[in-house]
Amino acid sequence: MKFNTVCLHAAKDMTHSTGAVAAPIYQSATFARESVDSNQVYSYSRLQNPTREHLENIMAHLEEGAGAVAFSTGMAAEAAVMELFSQGDRVIASDDLYGGSIRLFGNFSKKNGVTVDYADTGNIGEIKSLITPTTKAIFVETPTNPMLKVTDIAEVSKLAREHGLLLIVDNTFLTPYFQLPIRLGADIVIHSGTKYLCGHNDTMAGVAVAARADMAEKLHYINKTTGALLSPFDCFLMTRGIKTLAIRMERHNQNAAEAAKWLCRQKKVKKVYYLGLETHPGHETLKKQSTGFGGMISFEVESAELALSVLKKVKVIQFAESLGGVESLITYPVTQTHADVPEEKREKNGINARLLRLSVGIEDICDIIADLDQAIN
Ligand SMILES: *Cc1c(COP(=O)(O)O)cnc(C)c1O
Repeated sequence: MKFNTVCLHAAKDMTHSTGAVAAPIYQSATFARESVDSNQVYSYSRLQNPTREHLENIMAHLEEGAGAVAFSTGMAAEAAVMELFSQGDRVIASDDLYGGSIRLFGNFSKKNGVTVDYADTGNIGEIKSLITPTTKAIFVETPTNPMLKVTDIAEVSKLAREHGLLLIVDNTFLTPYFQLPIRLGADIVIHSGTKYLCGHNDTMAGVAVAARADMAEKLHYINKTTGALLSPFDCFLMTRGIKTLAIRMERHNQNAAEAAKWLCRQKKVKKVYYLGLETHPGHETLKKQSTGFGGMISFEVESAELALSVLKKVKVIQFAESLGGVESLITYPVTQTHADVPEEKREKNGINARLLRLSVGIEDICDIIADLDQAIN
């Protein structure tokens, strides 16, 4: 079955007990046992729940992994993945990560004795120079948030393999519809399911998909022990979101291309970061490993005052954190997503007071552009 069909048909009730076209929600905390020594699959929903298992199977299928684990949020998935490491271990991570990841690494991973070394993971030499005997993994977000920097997944995976390191890829921005990191050599793929996978700005979720079954087992063990798992109802919403993933991603992709083209023509817009532009430094690598550019655009306007006024004036586009939903959202990274990133690091990455990040939704593109026009010009 092709990807688009899997999105729909993997979401059927696999038990085939009722013929329900939508898989039912097993809203049960516990499962009655037939006997003391019965070999039943389900016992208590923190360990496993049929609705969650169903979603996990779909995600493993879509990301071409051996198993998946669903978490309550993307950060819960990341925190669980970081539990794979022990005191004294080092992890190399992209230097333009999601702000929450930087907060996790700089506080909790550090407290647990795990050191994170930051590199421009688009530069293989820089990663190589940071590998030490205690380095255990490379953690990349590609494309990154909000600057859309691209890492060559196959190239980094080769390096990881040579040094016996795990490669962890945050695939939130492109989703398996456009990019398949496990096929390119990644060991673990993580997602903020809150974004494109759920897709409707109404649910928080996270997923970790492992290429190998033993790694999926480890992640299940961490999840059932620490308990930040996804509720049956939210699993159902995510499964429902995935049914329209392909068609939504196509529209996000189309709309973003149009919006970026328009932004490039505006005098008051000084820089446009969009992967579909041939001038974007990550354009060629992206084309090699992904089948679309996604729905994200970051752009710099001529002044901080204009940036603030755009946030105030937008009407169709809403000024709100998050991305990847059907509604267009505009974000101010400096005070929102990246407020916890040290200023020096922020500036170095180009995240300044003139920068806005736009998650292009699936509204009619004419309305999106008209809204940007009245807000910017
Ligand atoms: C939002 C996001 C996260 C965190 O996910 P939550 O669901 O908000 O916890 C992690 N990585 C990326 C790239 C994100 O955009």
